[in-house]
Amino acid sequence: MKALVLERQGELSLRDIDLPSDMGPTDVRIKLHTVGVCGSDVHYYTHGKIGDFVVTAPMVLGHEASGTVIEVGAAVTTLSVGDRVCMEPGVPDLTSRASRLGIYNVDPAVTFWATPPIHGVLCGECVHPAAFTFKLPDTVSFAEGAMVEPFAVGMQAAKRAQIAPGDTAVVLGAGTIGIMTALAALAGGCARVLISDLSAEKLAIAERYDGITGIDIRQTSIVDAVAELTSGWGADVVFECSGAQAAMTDLFRIVRPGGAIVFVGLPPDPVAIDISAATVRECRMETVFRYANVFDRALDLIAAGKVDLKPLLSETYPFDASIEAFDRAAEGRPSDVKLQIRVDTESEAP
Ligand code: NAD
Ligand code: ZN
Repeated sequence: MKALVLERQGELSLRDIDLPSDMGPTDVRIKLHTVGVCGSDVHYYTHGKIGDFVVTAPMVLGHEASGTVIEVGAAVTTLSVGDRVCMEPGVPDLTSRASRLGIYNVDPAVTFWATPPIHGVLCGECVHPAAFTFKLPDTVSFAEGAMVEPFAVGMQAAKRAQIAPGDTAVVLGAGTIGIMTALAALAGGCARVLISDLSAEKLAIAERYDGITGIDIRQTSIVDAVAELTSGWGADVVFECSGAQAAMTDLFRIVRPGGAIVFVGLPPDPVAIDISAATVRECRMETVFRYANVFDRALDLIAAGKVDLKPLLSETYPFDASIEAFDRAAEGRPSDVKLQIRVDTESEAP
């Protein structure tokens, strides 16, 4: 099957590769339609590894995917041939202790598309458990379906924050994940969200949404901006979505006493945080790793019109131009939020 293969660090090719295609009774076979380019795919391309996950053999990239069901396993009752779907890329061992506790995202046995040694889905077809495959409502396009995965990270962050109606939230970092988190925070009941970055382009994209105010930290300190907005009290929830050490020093100056800090960004190296400053405010600190049990809720919010991901789509490339899409993503243009690849170029559906 033709696929976008990361041969080794810095080398991509579009070529035929043998991929697993056996169906179990609880699986579905999906013809891929759209696959998003994620920061992690790009990092494997440019660095050959993320933390302990090292690309040691050719690996197909891509994990933000939507498509059409073309075959259903004998025991599948929830999906039919022809259904338009999006897929949750991480599959745990459903009998594991983590799965039984409802925290299947941190199951040590989880396999996740395009995380070595597991192949991703920038290819024609894939086989996936029906339990991790979600039917797209008629009003949700394939492009939006393929954006559910990054939005799910924001959903998990909003869930972990335990937002109360009317909360004020701050999001540090207006990259894809920061904007997705800001949207999930608003959908979760926040009255207003301040989002910080040092890229005016990124902030302008975030500010297209009602309820989100951008703070350019090259001009205004986020500490001052939060103090002014909250009369010195602080934000109820701070989402750290930059992964930058510089952002960590401000965390406890912007959270209110008893507020929550939610760590979403993954700094590549250990960073220092001020535990004493956290303790004297009795802050609740939460961490986020991917997501669990949020894909269906994310789709419900999109279908209900409460979350619109469409403005975040920067450009769509045909499958044959996948390498071009990755080279552009590796450039990191500040005006780009989400690049996608249309695998099924014959389909007319967006
Ligand atoms: P990104 O690089 O697009 O966004 C990061 C943004 O932070 C950039 O726009 C950058 O300009 C901004 N930034 C840098 N320093 C800053 C500072 N001091 N204050 C405010 N903003 C600052 O990356 P992304 O794809 O949006 O991902 C964001 C982070 O989330 C990364 O660390 C990524 O690894 C992590 N991530 C975590 C999970 C998870 O499950 N926890 C999932 C996906 C991504
Ligand atoms: Zn992703």
